[in-house]
Amino acid sequence: MKCRAHGYSTLAFAAEWGNLPFRCFHAETGIAMHDVASNPGLFARLGEVRTDWTVEQVRTLFALPFADLIYHAQHIHRQNFDPNRVQVSTLLSIKTGGCPEDCGYCSQSIRYNTTVEREELMELERVLESARIAKANGATRFCMGAAYRSPKPKQLAAIKHMIAGVREMGMETCVTLGMLTPDQAVELKDAGLDYYNHNLDTSKDFYGKVITTRTYQDRLDTLEAVRNAGINVCCGGILGMGESSQDRAQLLHTLATLPAHPESVPINQLMQVPGTPLFGTEKLDALEFIRAIAVARILMPKSHVRLSAGRSGMSDETQALCFLAGANSIFYGDKLLTTENPDEHHDLGLFKRLGIQPEAQRDAVDTAHARSVHAEAAPIRSTMALS
Ligand code: SF4
Repeated sequence: MKCRAHGYSTLAFAAEWGNLPFRCFHAETGIAMHDVASNPGLFARLGEVRTDWTVEQVRTLFALPFADLIYHAQHIHRQNFDPNRVQVSTLLSIKTGGCPEDCGYCSQSIRYNTTVEREELMELERVLESARIAKANGATRFCMGAAYRSPKPKQLAAIKHMIAGVREMGMETCVTLGMLTPDQAVELKDAGLDYYNHNLDTSKDFYGKVITTRTYQDRLDTLEAVRNAGINVCCGGILGMGESSQDRAQLLHTLATLPAHPESVPINQLMQVPGTPLFGTEKLDALEFIRAIAVARILMPKSHVRLSAGRSGMSDETQALCFLAGANSIFYGDKLLTTENPDEHHDLGLFKRLGIQPEAQRDAVDTAHARSVHAEAAPIRSTMALS
């Protein structure tokens, strides 16, 4: 069979409603051949780990029919990951509130009238106790967030002890502390740090509407310092801040064209906090959010794509579609920053309904045991740092 428009062989045809008379699909791959014709370099290289994406290609992916987009994302996901495993990370706020930055979404900025109280850096023993509980719950990575513009030497020295202590428990470590110099990044690496989180937040063009106290280039410089120090990069953004679809495409394009893809890509949905400038922003369509997850999976095939802030506002069905689109990591805990996160029992229940196993507990702890451990363990305070 041949496509009337393109003359491709081995095609299946599908009549569409409306003005478009036909769309044609490659019979074996399901790829829409009209899209292939207009983007010859795009579909032929799907699944390849590459950093030379064009913005136009990213926009083409966003514009695919939903089923085609999910198909490609799921296909690539299965080539790189077990589709029924989701990594579970635990995140603790080790220093809350009082941040001098003006990130328009953040409850921890000193500039906004929110209910968050400023707290000092947490004592080492309290941090380690939280890490012990997280480990008992099956976590293999413990993330620590501090509301800093950038850490001062004394603060960094204290945090290095926390990293070393968590590392001694046999867990991976991640911190988010704001901007870092190259020397600070090396110090953290020497302390045993595995991952550093520093988000780009949004596109370069939209960035100035959200944050004015640090530049986009500042963020890229920190990411470069982290990468050069040999630390794994955790970097993503926030959707639903009033940005355009072009901004979402540009954000994912920037992430996917860094010299190396971030190992973890957190995709947050804005949590609207009363008192912050972005409170009241029109909510993003859930299908648009799922599309972004799918495009991130396609662009960065081997990265963990993390459903981060905003999950508490999502239905179980939306989260299920996100997992289908290639999300394979979540934050687990009762709170993200000062905002809600689905409670752990709900998450475990959703995993069970979807047949998902927590990646951190793979081959070591069965879910029944995990549930019983979890029921006995005291909840720890977990936050979502968006630095
Ligand atoms: S997101 Fe991070 S840097 Fe921005 S105000 Fe909040 S704590 Fe400070």
